[in-house]
Amino acid sequence: MTGYPTRIDFATAAEIIRSVAGNRMLKAERMPVSRASGRILAEGIVSPIALPPFDNSRMDGFAFAHASLAQDDATTLRLAGEQFAGPLQDLDVGIGECIRITTGAPLPAGTDTVAMKEACVEVDGQVRVPAGLSRGNDVRRAGEDVVAGAHVLSEGQCLTPARVSLAAALGIASLAVTQRPTVAVFTTGDELVEPGLPLAPGQIYNSNRELLMGLLRAEGLEPTAWPTLPDDPERMTTMLTDAAAAFDVVITCGGVSAGEKDHLPGLLAAQGRIQFWKVRMKPGMPVLFGEMDRALFLGLPGNPVSVLATFLTLGRELLDGLQRRREPRPQWKAVLAAPWRKTHERLEFLRGSLASGTDGRLQVVPNGADASHQLRAAADSNALIVLPEGLQDYRVGDVVDVIGC
Ligand code: AMP
Ligand code: MG
Repeated sequence: MTGYPTRIDFATAAEIIRSVAGNRMLKAERMPVSRASGRILAEGIVSPIALPPFDNSRMDGFAFAHASLAQDDATTLRLAGEQFAGPLQDLDVGIGECIRITTGAPLPAGTDTVAMKEACVEVDGQVRVPAGLSRGNDVRRAGEDVVAGAHVLSEGQCLTPARVSLAAALGIASLAVTQRPTVAVFTTGDELVEPGLPLAPGQIYNSNRELLMGLLRAEGLEPTAWPTLPDDPERMTTMLTDAAAAFDVVITCGGVSAGEKDHLPGLLAAQGRIQFWKVRMKPGMPVLFGEMDRALFLGLPGNPVSVLATFLTLGRELLDGLQRRREPRPQWKAVLAAPWRKTHERLEFLRGSLASGTDGRLQVVPNGADASHQLRAAADSNALIVLPEGLQDYRVGDVVDVIGC
């Protein structure tokens, strides 16, 4: 079980995951826009049309030629027809005339300016239009949002609802996206019992399964939870090799430290290939990564907070690498609202509460319950505070990186 990197720094671990996952990048598939939200775009999009596609009204009101208006005074125009949002009517609006128009309606021939309804007075087929309107007032010009042929979306971008909506606005019915990885989730340990069943002495409830399933679903995936693995190398081998033959990703938790029952590193070395074991991070130091059959194998430590921190960082790297997401995940700077003494060398992902201060700056309060089994502190938190390698005394007001969670 040698020949792989161990006790590596976090950035190196992330790079290894990216490059191994990148080599197994998932294929592209076409998705109707109705199902593309949250997926990673597999090819750039060039706009086939302009947006808006034609000059149109920004308001409900009246459209006319700017040349019909008096220089410095209100003007009364004859109401000569109406154009609503929808098919363009065959209208030709003359000097001294106006037409009723609604928001988004195309501007009929002979008009170039709109006055909003609330600013006009309509009496007996005559409309009084206020003074001082400039030419093109309340008109949305064709192409002012997107010109035809513009590069609007890039390969590797995550399809937010607004991006999918932009594609729909351009008339695009389906998008090439990267396939979603299939993910098998395993919890391990003879001490685990499912919620709802009685606890015998020495047993604990399985909390990591719901944690991992929830984290994966939040990524838009449909993970499959497998039965809990007993701490028995043969049973573990059977189930894990089965899963690795059928899934793109196998994620386990527990069984990766140095205890008598921590069988997974040996199992991965025997059945597949270890890419690294142990990262200089806290929590999550014993994290294991490698390949087994068709699957990428991510062995997260068993403590619940370690699962959270390693999934949100290294787990996301793996998913992003497989789907070739090119946009970085959001990370913010925040001001520490309480001091913190970092007494160990590893990179730390400390739980904390992030909120906007009255001065408009983000503030984060570290949660003092910082041990990796203290799930309640994680449940009370909405951020991971990233504290770089090395010992340090942090003071109130120091600026730190934070990741939302
Ligand atoms: P291990 O790495 O397997 O030694 O697990 C480390 C710690 O995490 C132990 O205290 C385990 O009982 C706990 N643990 C492991 N798996 C789970 C789980 N699925 N739910 C809750 N706690 C767990
Ligand atoms: Mg265990």
